[in-house]
Amino acid sequence: MQRFDNAREAALALRPDDPVYCFRPQVLKTDARRFMEMFPGRTAYAVKTNGEPIVLKALAEAGVTVFDVASPGEFAAVRAVSPNAEMLYMHPVKAQSHIRLALEEYGIRVVAIDHEDEITKLTRVVRALDIDPGAITVFVRVQTKGHAAYELSKKFGAGPANAVELAERLNRTGYKVGLCFHVGSQIEDPDTYERALASADWVRNRLTFDLAGLDVGGGFPAEYGHDPNRKAVEMPSLGQIMSRLSGDLTEYGFADMPLVAEPGRVIVARCLSLIVRVLMRKGRRLYINDGIWASLSDSWTGKITLPARFIPDPAIRNRNGSEKNIVPFKVCGATCDSVDILSRPFWLPETVDTGDWIEIGHIGAYSLSLRTRFNGFYPDTFVEIATPFDEGDAPQGFASLETMAD
Ligand SMILES: *Cc1c(COP(=O)(O)O)cnc(C)c1O
Repeated sequence: MQRFDNAREAALALRPDDPVYCFRPQVLKTDARRFMEMFPGRTAYAVKTNGEPIVLKALAEAGVTVFDVASPGEFAAVRAVSPNAEMLYMHPVKAQSHIRLALEEYGIRVVAIDHEDEITKLTRVVRALDIDPGAITVFVRVQTKGHAAYELSKKFGAGPANAVELAERLNRTGYKVGLCFHVGSQIEDPDTYERALASADWVRNRLTFDLAGLDVGGGFPAEYGHDPNRKAVEMPSLGQIMSRLSGDLTEYGFADMPLVAEPGRVIVARCLSLIVRVLMRKGRRLYINDGIWASLSDSWTGKITLPARFIPDPAIRNRNGSEKNIVPFKVCGATCDSVDILSRPFWLPETVDTGDWIEIGHIGAYSLSLRTRFNGFYPDTFVEIATPFDEGDAPQGFASLETMAD
């Protein structure tokens, strides 16, 4: 991989027409270690957030030894970079053949369930392979009601009373039993974990046996940019969330049992930025070489403000306007699909023009993992960058939360 000091250098040296991912392994390692130091239990990185081999490898080098996986593709990706890593198979709804693969080929011994049918599937595999159920820890996923930018508890999780029944049944079969929840992604309210812990506490108090552990899932917020035209929304810092969570774990009497967290976004968001090129400017519209079917899936860029840095092409001699004047541009993606238009504008210097580049920061989570090959576009160029995104010149622009006035 080619190395540069910053994205501007990379853009000016490569003059790329295809999107370029700027990977910062040191930032990734710092953020992973910071989380591991703060969380009072084991850290299982959620592979779905970014399963690139270079990312998984850097995480293993940073000392991450546990990974939260959901599919055979993720088992293989983790095993390829870290033969001794432990994998937790935390998807509550699994194909029976995948459960078998997990237990038989990958030696996975921790799984999650939220329904009795899943216990049936698991037990069939356990019997067929003649594994002692006592060697397996099954986490019962408890439903939670949260306030996250991305709410996931509508899809998975057993209601508390049902969770009690499932846990008792697992215990009778001889499994070790834990409780888990996942409050959604990018939580905005520090009370969210407490509400989930209260549900877990309710379940635990009705059990006839001792729990083997508690898994608090992911959801820890990453730092993004903010729109300078609006009042900054007060977001709790990771430190604040973590000290509140640690306090709540103690208060609810969970602090002495084995604890697991499954962070994704908070670990990888900052380690990648993306250089895109303006293929055409038409008035206040920019046609760029990436879009919702590649790194800018609108389901998440629509809710998050990403910092953006303008990289003017020095070959453009004549420009109109002032670089200090930051204005909104509607952004059209690379494919021929008419829905490939970002719902929120990019705010950039009014001088931006055809041929310029834009570096979009903090794009490591849920961006390249959601790429498609639609229309033949598949960004896959990586460079290594030494300087953290936030240590360069201040970003001039951002991909905003506000809808554009027509
Ligand atoms: C997606 C997911 C995570 C990671 O969530 P982040 O918000 O990225 O931290 C963790 N656990 C489970 C079960 C998930 O589905």
